[in-house]
Amino acid sequence: MKQLVHKLYARGELSKDELVYLLGHMDIETRKELYRFARMRREQAYGDKVYMRGLIEFSSYCRQNCLYCGLRAGNRAAERYRLSPREILECCREGYELGFRTFVLQSGEDPWYTTDLLATLIRDIKSEFPDAAITLSIGEREEGTYRLLFESGADRFLMRHETASRRLYQSLHPSMSFDHRRQCLETLLAIGYQVGAGFMVGLPGQTVEDLAEDMKYLKSLNPDMIGIGPFIPHDHTPLGDAKAGSLEDTLVMVALARLYLPHALIPATTALGSLNPEGREMALKVGANVVMPNLSPIFVRKKYALYNNKICTGDESAQCRHCLELRIGAAGFSVDMGRGDSLKAVGTR
Ligand code: SAM
Ligand code: SF4
Repeated sequence: MKQLVHKLYARGELSKDELVYLLGHMDIETRKELYRFARMRREQAYGDKVYMRGLIEFSSYCRQNCLYCGLRAGNRAAERYRLSPREILECCREGYELGFRTFVLQSGEDPWYTTDLLATLIRDIKSEFPDAAITLSIGEREEGTYRLLFESGADRFLMRHETASRRLYQSLHPSMSFDHRRQCLETLLAIGYQVGAGFMVGLPGQTVEDLAEDMKYLKSLNPDMIGIGPFIPHDHTPLGDAKAGSLEDTLVMVALARLYLPHALIPATTALGSLNPEGREMALKVGANVVMPNLSPIFVRKKYALYNNKICTGDESAQCRHCLELRIGAAGFSVDMGRGDSLKAVGTR
């Protein structure tokens, strides 16, 4: 089995059959070898640096109904909030003072934030902080909106493909389109954004073939960033009683992503940290190189509840920043507070 890991390291991909076989026969020794090679690749590409992004969760309203997510429109028990543009700018100010040079603006799909409102907000952030990067994670919009927001100064866009299995995607998103989501990702890349795709691990009904398909899709899309996290149930969703994805399975997929796309920025996700107190450090050790401390105001943190027991819902932004910095140092890495563009974007590949 180790030979397959060596082959992957040498070639940057495996055939789908080989990957399915590897995932189906992942014993402890193979896993250790995979983690070792993934860590080597990450060091070759990015050294020991961990990039910090300040996450601002600005609206918990969502018009979509993804079966797994606590923000889904059908969750009547969810407490909703919206931050005003002024409040969002205030979060950026606090973040900038703390040293952040990337702001990730994330929300449910909330049309209250019109194209014009978002464009003005982005221009305002950029004029106050011209050396900071803006990452959007606001879901599916018209091509014209994506274009205008890019022209207004947005640099990056995160939109996970969620799963590369058409069957699974359609069952989890009955009113959304598998093809449209992929089309959005293509459009964002064509416009010039640095793009993040990604998926959840351990979704109910997900098979190793589906996970192999995720890697194949990422290889062909070639995004700048890859978000991989475990599925974690939320009580007030149709999947409330389902089992969470496992820590080990998620780490395996993070390590594979590093070997498939050596130049990608890969976050150690909050969901991994919510599953296990050491989850994010473990992800850094198997190929991840980004963390996203929360900059949202403390009074909204608990309301942005995607899944049960999400961490850091009670901490001040400064606390989050310093706690993570200490943990990253203790795990043997060094924090980089710069913009941290992907190697693909800065043209070193
Ligand atoms: N609404 C935008 C979208 O869906 O692209 C951005 C925000 S959405 C909350 C960000 C990500 O949260 C999703 O892409 C999904 O992968 C993740 N997520 C939602 N519910 C989750 C759950 N129950 N467990 C783990 N991750 C979840
Ligand atoms: Fe809305 Fe995103 Fe949650 Fe889906 S994953 S319900 S689009 S916030």
